[in-house]
Amino acid sequence: MNTHSIRFRLAAWHTVVLTAVFLILGGLLYFQIRRHLEVTILETQARRARQIADTLIAGKLAPGDAGLGSEIEGLYAPERTDRFIRVSRTTGEVVYLSGSPVDRSFDPLQIPTPSADFQSGRIDLPNGDSVLIAATSINSGAGTSYRVEVATSAAPVDSIANRLLMLLALGAPIVAGAVWGGSYLLVRLALRPVSQMAGKAEIISQHNLSERLPVANTGDELERLSGSLNHMIARLDDAFTTSKRFVADASHELRTPLTIIRGELEALALDTEVSAGVKEQAGSLLEEVERLSRIVDQLFALSRLDAGEAQAEWVSVDMGELAASTAEQMALLADDKQIKLNVEIEPAVKVFGDRARLKQVVVNFLDNAIKYTPVNGRVGLSVRAVQGCALICVEDSGIGIAPESLPHVFERFYRGAQAKATHADGAGLGLAIVKSIALAHGGDVSGESTLDKGSRFQLRLPLAGTA
Ligand code: ADP
Repeated sequence: MNTHSIRFRLAAWHTVVLTAVFLILGGLLYFQIRRHLEVTILETQARRARQIADTLIAGKLAPGDAGLGSEIEGLYAPERTDRFIRVSRTTGEVVYLSGSPVDRSFDPLQIPTPSADFQSGRIDLPNGDSVLIAATSINSGAGTSYRVEVATSAAPVDSIANRLLMLLALGAPIVAGAVWGGSYLLVRLALRPVSQMAGKAEIISQHNLSERLPVANTGDELERLSGSLNHMIARLDDAFTTSKRFVADASHELRTPLTIIRGELEALALDTEVSAGVKEQAGSLLEEVERLSRIVDQLFALSRLDAGEAQAEWVSVDMGELAASTAEQMALLADDKQIKLNVEIEPAVKVFGDRARLKQVVVNFLDNAIKYTPVNGRVGLSVRAVQGCALICVEDSGIGIAPESLPHVFERFYRGAQAKATHADGAGLGLAIVKSIALAHGGDVSGESTLDKGSRFQLRLPLAGTA
């Protein structure tokens, strides 16, 4: 469980606060009920002591020990009613003491004589029992002072209080669990629009900037957030469209003047009337113009892919046959460097797509492999069908790519340090085009490499019929 999540923290906070409130209120209730029961019982005992004093002792000239005892027994039956009654003279002499109660809830002999000013309260006996006792003093008709004490066991009060305490102890975890579950669920529901927005935001990239996040109709900060994010995506969409259009327009506009310049320079290089120095200059300018034309063509190709062309040109393409014929056309390049080009083709690996673009992928892969593999190296091209996908794989025994460069090789205009050092003429657009073509065909592209050992690039496309 993620203890840093808002869900966890809010649920934990609610649980702690509400359980604490439950325990505090429960504790107050416990003390109040216990106190109320004790006070009520003590008041009853005090009333009874007063009654005994008023009816059996006050005004009587000689209450008489034996007579008093039998009167109390007859009127109050303390043993049967589980009560304690003691009448004593203030000199300390006990005139009457009730026997053990029927329920044996206390031992009368253990109840100490309270001090003269004691009126009522709870007394804990040495054997662990407790009694609630009330006392009153009275003068007899003969002027002798008596003290009447009436008590009952505190056990019923304790038992009610203990039951309440047990309910509180059992209720606390139930309350905590219910609050935890409730708030966890509530926060989850409250955050659902956020997770929906996050889910949508994760799949929005430069390729589908026209999509928008779901708007939470909550009328609060969430609704504002989703609205603001959608406005931001709209602004990004505008900016991307403008920049794509700029690249498309610029590369398109540059192609014609470049073609004219190239034509003029070719004518100059062939002109018999100009000097050898001028011809040489025209030749090197021609090389630069060709390089520039290549970059402009690549940019134009990328901008057309970005614009997401209609699929009108899509046909069923036999990838094996396409790769083999492309490899054959490029065999000369490999021969120039005495590179052994090994081709392994599985028959009838068909995909659905744009033939020219798919050929471009094989060209770019092979071109890089041959370019970045030293003389006498090896390059392998294979086409296979694996789990509903066509795999077009090119591997070489070339200079390889440093681990820190590998994640960037599909970015536009990115060139690895080794590549820059050995081949100054690249522009870093070849693999970016491959990636755009792969995405446009619903596939993906990947590369692995070990520096100074070689590289392996792979295009994965859905087989025709599965796309
Ligand atoms: P370019 O080849 O024009 O530099 P690419 O987009 O084709 O541009 O490749 C980008 C970078 O990826 C290259 O600069 C190079 O560093 C690296 N790279 C691509 N293919 C290979 C390969 N077969 N062997 C070594 N490095 C490669």
